[in-house]
Amino acid sequence: MAKLLNDRDIEFQLYEVLETESLLQRPRYREHDRAIFDATLSTARNIAAEYFAPHNQKGDANEPTFDGQKVTLIPETKPAWDAFADAGFLASHHDFDEGGSQLPEVVLRASMAYFNAANVSSTAYSFLTIGAANLLKSFGSDELKQKYLPPMLDGRYSGTMALTEPDQGSALGDLRTLAKPAGDGSYRLFGNKMYISGGDHELTDNIIHMVLARIEGAPSGVRGISLFLVPKFHVNDDGSRSQRNDVALAGLLHKMGYRNTTSTVLNFGEKDGAVGYLVGEPNKGLGYMFQMMNEARIGVGLGAATLGYQSYLEALDYARDRPQGRHASNKDPDTPQVRIVEHADVRRMLLMQKAYAEGSMALCLYASTLVEDANTAPDESERKAAAELLDLITPMVKTWPSKYGLMASDLGIQVLGGAGYTREYLLEQLYRDNRLNPIHEGTEGIQGLDLLGRKLGPKGGDGYAEFQRRILSTLDQATGMETCGFLAGQLKNALSTLQSVTSDLQQQLSVDPDHGLSNATMYLDIFGKILVGWVWLKQAIVAEKALASGASESDEAFYKGKVHAAQYFMSWELAPLEGYARLLSAGNRSNLDMQSAWF
Ligand SMILES: Cc1cc2nc3c(=O)[nH]c(=O)nc-3n(C[C@H](O)[C@H](O)[C@H](O)COP(=O)(O)OP(=O)(O)OC[C@H]3O[C@@H](n4cnc5c(N)ncnc54)[C@H](O)[C@@H]3O)c2cc1C
Repeated sequence: MAKLLNDRDIEFQLYEVLETESLLQRPRYREHDRAIFDATLSTARNIAAEYFAPHNQKGDANEPTFDGQKVTLIPETKPAWDAFADAGFLASHHDFDEGGSQLPEVVLRASMAYFNAANVSSTAYSFLTIGAANLLKSFGSDELKQKYLPPMLDGRYSGTMALTEPDQGSALGDLRTLAKPAGDGSYRLFGNKMYISGGDHELTDNIIHMVLARIEGAPSGVRGISLFLVPKFHVNDDGSRSQRNDVALAGLLHKMGYRNTTSTVLNFGEKDGAVGYLVGEPNKGLGYMFQMMNEARIGVGLGAATLGYQSYLEALDYARDRPQGRHASNKDPDTPQVRIVEHADVRRMLLMQKAYAEGSMALCLYASTLVEDANTAPDESERKAAAELLDLITPMVKTWPSKYGLMASDLGIQVLGGAGYTREYLLEQLYRDNRLNPIHEGTEGIQGLDLLGRKLGPKGGDGYAEFQRRILSTLDQATGMETCGFLAGQLKNALSTLQSVTSDLQQQLSVDPDHGLSNATMYLDIFGKILVGWVWLKQAIVAEKALASGASESDEAFYKGKVHAAQYFMSWELAPLEGYARLLSAGNRSNLDMQSAWF
């Protein structure tokens, strides 16, 4: 197996591009230093390698089972969960007085990348628990927090996000799970949830479901959805576990990938109703969920980025080792074969993988700094600008790595040839695991509608203005630089393409929303590429400057690789966007006008 990630790249992203050490100036991080960040990353790397990676393929080959009473996972899953929790990762971004270590968001995300790379499906239990605990902390009453948060932060309890129902996936506004007031402040829930990851298992003493449901008599649509905490087991006032709540596992789903994560169908209220506790105010549940979704979606993007990254490293190792064929100019069969990395076409695939994987990783880590700034930047206007920009780019942070990280996995299979298609190599599993990411947490289609219809809308928004301001400032930084000056020109052209297609689509939207939104996924793709082009330019600027000031031999190769990948990206990924943008600006109706009967 290749390395989990390129440590030099993670270090480059964190310290050279994102200047993570500057966070040490903020009061929240006064007691930290870089050594603490490095030690955290190193702990993540070690635990991932020791407890997660070794059972990645075993978990894939041996799905969880349910005998009608109990769910069984391969035994290696529990020590991995314990090691993660014991090292404090479930609580690490929380306050010191909550048992956390006030770790900056971006360091936590970079740490999570190692776990995802080692074994994405075993890591999902932690990922979901972190998300559920964040929800509870942000919106739960003191009473709920006191009872349920500490065991979720120390690993005794795990968490889920229970939104989807058998008949309601993308259209959450139509969900039907019902919550009836029980008269004592609690509710009784009745309904079915589907695809709930981590919805049942024996890893923890209890499972805390964060469930979206509709209180009896609530308005229809998104304005009538509330959030409830529903424990698998009731909890006594002294914290001990009581009897089982009325939440039953109807069955496990059998998936293409992510196989060591249980995917469950849960029945709430087969008997007297599942006891649930309202989180926050009635009818605001979807809003709460969406506030957390920004972070969850970065998590999905990061998961996709890491699987794409792993695929790249696996393919690179193979290509450097596998002898096959000779250069086209060499007709002598008695000369030794070259390694396949010597073939330009294999380099094309590896270069695409590098551009997609490292670009996705850079994008997700950048988005994490926006989460950080939105929460802890010293200045109110800085916090607001970061939050608005994050809100705008979240659909791209979720979908770009999901689409192109998956392509990196696909390309990895191609680099290996026949070997890539066999189960002897990790690539086919990485591809299957990664195939989930364009689907969950809002499909690619739904993210396109969110970006164009909601985030930008007919008038655009402050996040869009902030995006343009920041990109222009990066273009300024490249002025006068030999290579980056040229790359900045290419990005500037792409930005003006984006500006004109955006205003054309806004115009179309104001006339006819169905028409205006009919190519939203393609618009999302164009915007995403320009966003990643920006992220690549930022990296190239740092690399070109480092090269100009002299670098060690290995660093020189590393920095040159960054500049070269940025050049590839601007020429091959950004330049062709203009043709697609023209179709959108002209209001192309191919998709809209096609009829169901014509297929
Ligand atoms: C392995 C796995 C794990 C999951 N984990 C969880 C979990 O932990 N918790 C949870 O709550 N859910 C979970 N989900 C559910 C997931 O979020 C949904 O599958 C997803 O939101 C899509 O819903 P759906 O499957 O019902 O597809 P549908 O909503 O039926 O969509 C089908 C297709 O139609 C498109 N479509 C739908 N509506 C529109 C529209 N208005 N405009 C344009 N296109 C549209 C979609 O983009 C998609 O391509 C998980 C799913 C999987 C597969």
